[in-house]
Amino acid sequence: MAFEGLSERLQGTIAKIKGKGKVTEQDVKLMMREVRFALIEADVNLKVVKKFVKSVSERAVGSDVMQSLTPGQQVIKIVQEELTQLMGGEQSPVKFSTRPPTVIMMVGLQGAGKTTTTGKLANVLRKKYNKKPLLVAADVYRPAAVQQLQTLGKQLSIPVFDKGTDVSPVEIAREAIELAKEEHHDVVIIDTAGRLHIDEALMQELKDIRALKEPDEVFLVVDAMTGQDAVNVAESFNEAVGITGVVLTKLDGDTRGGAALSIRSVTEKPIKFVGMGEKMDALEPFHPERMAQRILGMGDVLSLIEKAQATVDADKAKELEEKFKTQSFTFDDFLDQMSQVKKMGPLEDIIKMIPGMNKVKGLDKMNFDDKQINHIEAIIQSMTIAERTNPEIINASRRKRISKGSGRSVQEVNRLIKQFDEMKKMMKQMSGLAGAPGAGKKKK
Ligand code: GDP
Repeated sequence: MAFEGLSERLQGTIAKIKGKGKVTEQDVKLMMREVRFALIEADVNLKVVKKFVKSVSERAVGSDVMQSLTPGQQVIKIVQEELTQLMGGEQSPVKFSTRPPTVIMMVGLQGAGKTTTTGKLANVLRKKYNKKPLLVAADVYRPAAVQQLQTLGKQLSIPVFDKGTDVSPVEIAREAIELAKEEHHDVVIIDTAGRLHIDEALMQELKDIRALKEPDEVFLVVDAMTGQDAVNVAESFNEAVGITGVVLTKLDGDTRGGAALSIRSVTEKPIKFVGMGEKMDALEPFHPERMAQRILGMGDVLSLIEKAQATVDADKAKELEEKFKTQSFTFDDFLDQMSQVKKMGPLEDIIKMIPGMNKVKGLDKMNFDDKQINHIEAIIQSMTIAERTNPEIINASRRKRISKGSGRSVQEVNRLIKQFDEMKKMMKQMSGLAGAPGAGKKKK
């Protein structure tokens, strides 16, 4: 999980001050010392740490905070606001040209995830903004980058323009922009050449591509796991070529979060997207406010809802709702429902988006790997069709058979059937309320 260490330390610090009815300057000082350590440990740029601590301290010892009824809460609110500010405040949207095609240049060092992100970005722009992108394979230096982009394009059914590796990237970009105009692609995403290190030749080439048609966006792709190195790379690219935004990849594996917290403040350029995995749907818009809430353990309901809307099949949801109402919900539907949840990603990540869940005792020790879901699936799949539809016929001997068939214990089988019964009861109550005549109306 991203920000794991920082999250834990900040939440520990916050817990101490949260309920305080009186907060002294000394309390704030002590708290800020711990916040400072937490940020340094998270590999946040030192200058950024200093600035952050200074602005929180100044605001926190202000008289309106100290004299408020809930000073502890106020201080936490300030930390949250300043964290949000640190990461850029508002979410920064993609800038599209008023005269298509919009040209987006992807730049970065080798291995940062540039080619992968090019594919992911095209996928997001098509899905969310209804765009018709053209991908351009202009990374002619990394062996196999052209092939890699072609493969991603095929997988996504998004066209890729390539001219092999013998033509100059500038020429490739030029031809691609022409083609995009002819074929009415409204976005052109150029996967430019990476290098192992920043060098003059690379920067010159990028400037030459820039000169073809002023790009609407120049996204620098950096690897979050490289921490302060990522910040230095961002600074160099910004100075040499000029970037309009950053895509921070591999945030899924970055437990510290130093790059995410420093880049905006050091380069003054917003983080536009974050990469949360290797798959083509693992690119998310970066929301500073939501990220700050997640770091402070306040959950992130908005992202959870968006995730559900993007992955859960609306027709299926409607069908399930009908079944709830008519009491015809079976174990098969239960399986269906679970596979929908599974599509939303690792259970552990989903649970962390629910506010307060991080404070539930023992939750961290619970096993949220998706094995649990697999076990439930195995049990249901070992039931006969009759049993799935009419669970009340599942007697002791049937339970034993199901346990054997699924390789799970009889207790587990019992637990699942009990949970299913309770769920049905709950549905009955809920749909009873919803369906009752006059429900929702006030009695006259
Ligand atoms: P490039 O040299 O910059 O074009 O890098 P690639 O696109 O080939 O990516 C390098 C490696 O990083 C590949 O194995 C990708 O699958 C992986 N990768 C890219 N983005 C992410 C991400 O957000 N999360 C994770 N876990 N892996 C990523």
